[in-house]
Amino acid sequence: MEYRKTAKTIASYQWFLFFTQGSFNRKANIKHVRSNLSERYKYTIQYHMVVPVLESFISNIKNRFSEIVKNSNLSEKTKRVLLYLNKNNEWLIRKSEKAVYVDYKNKTVLEYDITEEERLLAKKIFKHILSSWRKPKFNKISLILDSKTALIEEPKKAKHFDRWIRLSTFEKGKPIYLPVKLHGYFEKRGGKATQLIQIGEDGTLRIVKEIEPKRIEGEEIIALDFGLRNFLTSSKGDLFGRKLYEKVKEYAEKIDRLQRNLQRQGIKPSQSKRFKELTRRLSEFIKNEVRRIINRIVKLYAPKVIVIENLKSLYKKFLSDYPKEIKRVIVRYGYGELKRKLQEIKEEYSIEVIEVNPAYSSQTCSSCGYVDKENRKSQERFECRLCGYKANADVNGAKNLVSRAYWVSSSNLHSIGKALVRQVEEFLKNLSGERYKCLRSKALGLLSENPYFRGFSGIVLNPMRR
Ligand SMILES: [Zn+2]
Repeated sequence: MEYRKTAKTIASYQWFLFFTQGSFNRKANIKHVRSNLSERYKYTIQYHMVVPVLESFISNIKNRFSEIVKNSNLSEKTKRVLLYLNKNNEWLIRKSEKAVYVDYKNKTVLEYDITEEERLLAKKIFKHILSSWRKPKFNKISLILDSKTALIEEPKKAKHFDRWIRLSTFEKGKPIYLPVKLHGYFEKRGGKATQLIQIGEDGTLRIVKEIEPKRIEGEEIIALDFGLRNFLTSSKGDLFGRKLYEKVKEYAEKIDRLQRNLQRQGIKPSQSKRFKELTRRLSEFIKNEVRRIINRIVKLYAPKVIVIENLKSLYKKFLSDYPKEIKRVIVRYGYGELKRKLQEIKEEYSIEVIEVNPAYSSQTCSSCGYVDKENRKSQERFECRLCGYKANADVNGAKNLVSRAYWVSSSNLHSIGKALVRQVEEFLKNLSGERYKCLRSKALGLLSENPYFRGFSGIVLNPMRR
């Protein structure tokens, strides 16, 4: 197909731009690209199909790059420099003289000199990943129709559909009209609808939306803790989605009852209109709630960084503590939507989302760092046995997630044991400092009977020896 061939040619030109200038360009001049397609169509392909695909490919490389660096045994300074170069797409092209590092924890900005070795290393890592991954081939891209071949029109009398798509055919003056129903998601997605229609491989039609990146004020880091009572609790102490589970439970029970009835009548759920309608409504409800809550959080705090528990551990959390039917739908609809929504706010507001290892965060004191099973008095209440800090258990948990954003090793994301060792070490470091000097003798008593500190007691007895 002509548009695939054209897309490939444009892509190779974009790679040329990338290697010589350091980035792709949606609006690059491509007059020289030969194609049977109209100029307008060529630019449409470049803007809406080729560059977005290449950019997302590079963004995957970027993620891999930072993973490699974070898990390496390079010095902390070199890590920061490499992460800076990565963030600013400076693997191949030299732009910055110095690397800037924002230390959110101490609210300071540090500047580092970038050595030649570090630049070379960044280039090597980048090229290594690039060569081991398959570049987008544009063999399967979907066709995009622009206003020359298809027009989107609002129906005069709105009835059972939302838009007309008017397709030109080879016979002049005999267009085909296709009625289109807009998905609820389309309206909520934000952004401006373009005059472009994308035909997916499965034959679905989509109206392409353009998202303008928005900048928001604020420079805070917040963490969100997933609870079993409230869907989300923020490190600032706010609770979100209090009614979510109740409502989900209501739906789940209805669906369960219906399923049993159908079974008695020998009808498969997939044949029941009511069953389909109920599950559709439930999934829509969860998706809407997730989007509403995240929107509120973004508006309320205007954060730069959002820290959350890694989604895999979340899955486990619900697997152990929640009724089967609720778990199923939350896992199935809620997490998918959450992932999508977080990706969206990343793109729209440039909010960084960091996943952390949450293990033991609910038993750790966010004030002094002491980790003890007995710290958590009940599902709701947290009280530190060592320093006496009291808080809502979910709020305390969320606060701990904030400090975990600074644990650099993301490889430990799924390891429960490593999280404990790290937390214990952190606490012992706190204890050896001036600030917690007065707690030392009390700590000695507690630690001797705390199984988490087995093997660490020598360090506590003489913290200065570390
Ligand atoms: Zn404490």
